[in-house]
Amino acid sequence: MTAAAERIAAQGIPLTVQRRMVLAAALGRDDHPTADELHAEVAGVVPGIARGTVYRTLDTLVDLGLLVRVHHPGSAARYDARLERHHHLVCEACGAIRDLEDRRLDRLALPDTRKHGFRITDFSVHFRGLCRGCARSAGRSAHSSS
Ligand SMILES: [Zn+2]
Ligand SMILES: [Zn+2]
Repeated sequence: MTAAAERIAAQGIPLTVQRRMVLAAALGRDDHPTADELHAEVAGVVPGIARGTVYRTLDTLVDLGLLVRVHHPGSAARYDARLERHHHLVCEACGAIRDLEDRRLDRLALPDTRKHGFRITDFSVHFRGLCRGCARSAGRSAHSSS
């Protein structure tokens, strides 16, 4: 049994086939898939599984703390099976999200938000830019237009 499955069992929540399939699909990828991408992947194993079922299952897995929902401006919600703190490189052209680990960012001095009545519980930094593929095609089009 995986650590994730043990955690579900410990909470007394039955690990249904659907939950197992959706969780396995998310754990098998590191590209932060959208709900639709996960639905397509699970449908390859469980033909005919409804999109709504996958969406609800994702909500449950997030509530259980087994997946993290990643929001970045201008992109659909994506799901991350990596629970430990890490940061993200977000491509502005294609929306790809890659993981970034940086000890210095992990030790970032947090702002004092008490005057806002806000208590910070966690954070992650995202950097916007161009991924390798998009930077390459941007370079190509710049070349061809000159
Ligand atoms: Zn890109
Ligand atoms: Zn991530």
